[in-house]
Amino acid sequence: MSGRILVVDDIATNRLILRAKLSAAYFDVLLADCGEKALEVARAELPDMILLDVMMPDIDGYAVCRALKADPATAHIPVVMVTAANRQEERIRGLDAGADDFLNKPINDVTLFARVRNLMRVKMMFDELKLRETTSQELGLGEFMDPTGFDTDQEGSVLLAIKDQSRGQHWRDCIGSRFPFTVEIVRREAAVLEAAEREPPDAFIITQFLEDGDDGLRLVSTLRANPRTRQSAILLVVEDGRLETATKALDLGASDYICAPFDANEMAARLRSQMRRKKYSDRLRSNVRDSLRMAVIDPLTGLYNRRYATQHINRIVGRARESGLPYAVMMLDLDRFKSINDRYGHNAGDLVLKEFARRLQENLRGIDLVARLGGEEFLVALPDTPAQEAQIVAERLREVIDGRPVDIGNGQSVPVTVSIGVAFGTPQDRDPEAMIAHADRALYDSKAAGRNRVSYHADAA
Ligand code: GH3
Ligand code: MG
Ligand code: MG
Repeated sequence: MSGRILVVDDIATNRLILRAKLSAAYFDVLLADCGEKALEVARAELPDMILLDVMMPDIDGYAVCRALKADPATAHIPVVMVTAANRQEERIRGLDAGADDFLNKPINDVTLFARVRNLMRVKMMFDELKLRETTSQELGLGEFMDPTGFDTDQEGSVLLAIKDQSRGQHWRDCIGSRFPFTVEIVRREAAVLEAAEREPPDAFIITQFLEDGDDGLRLVSTLRANPRTRQSAILLVVEDGRLETATKALDLGASDYICAPFDANEMAARLRSQMRRKKYSDRLRSNVRDSLRMAVIDPLTGLYNRRYATQHINRIVGRARESGLPYAVMMLDLDRFKSINDRYGHNAGDLVLKEFARRLQENLRGIDLVARLGGEEFLVALPDTPAQEAQIVAERLREVIDGRPVDIGNGQSVPVTVSIGVAFGTPQDRDPEAMIAHADRALYDSKAAGRNRVSYHADAA
């Protein structure tokens, strides 16, 4: 795994030692000797991670961290604060500033690399999601999400696995007094897996030694491998006092760890960071899903768009070849639609398009394809439908439009008619493009013959 790491420290020797260690592990290293420079390099270079000294003469590490986390361009870059003393108040202060983790000077290599690997994985996951988000934006789908906008006033669910119930309740009270998170407490591995199967929580807090000798570390790795819990945050409570346990937990996929004994406030602060990250990635993910949907849906009518329709017709033609059943393709175009726009305005025109789409859907089956190809031009495909039945459907569609004017508000309504061209497909037809062209040709006939009518492609009718 490689990546670019920005090392910030006012003392040259510290910078050089870290650079030597990280370069030896094939990371690219950027350096900054003060807070001001750190912000400048971070914004210009967008490194994958920042190792940030706390004590610096110009702006201290906390302030630098806050500034990084407040800037949408740098907010997602993991920050590890490097502190001289292993002091809890400092860690809580750092977590409050948005830090992702801490290392104590002198830096222990094993801890350093376990942390770096872990945060690099997280960063790569975010980069991937952000890349998809950017692509969606460039396609004009979805909006940029501000990663700084996530805070702890939102709800979250936590599953706490702990043997000692009274300690568990104390942690729960502490978390509950600070955040609107719900905390469920269980004692055994089986109970965790069962709860996760029901409804995966946003975060797990898992103590190392569970009831009946159940092993917290093994549970971390099981949860990480399970698709249902893969996205959840996992915080391991290290109870044997060994640093190796902590590094192993990170390598197995824990998002963070905390070494006992500790103050419940520190745990709450770590949980908040994890929750923030989880909520942000949830939103990125659902944004990507929404924009994929947007890629095939026409926003005005909610019907499928041309891109989807073209693919789907291919499938219908292919399936007919296998099933031996006939199908039909229709092109529909509103009559003199331009004059509706001209007379009642563009908004009224939009209302007509929406109502037209609604009436089409209402009068077709679930398996039929209804798509807006563009403007006031629509396509309908009827799989498994013989010609006779398709004629009845086409005539019905014409009637439901002609039959009732469209309400455009203010007590006004507009009479609307549609012209339709139908092509009948047989299992021998192999060319989807030709089917559409045939229907289009029939549509032209309807227009030429005076509009508000249905015509059929000559071959079949
Ligand atoms: P014809 O009967 O020959 O089809 O005549 P027409 O006026 O319906 O056809 P024409 O292609 O001349 O005009 C289509 C009009 O549809 C022109 C365009 O402004 C309008 N239009 C296209 N897309 C939209 C839309 O999304 N909303 C609204 N309100 N109008 C649209
Ligand atoms: Mg038209
Ligand atoms: Mg037209």
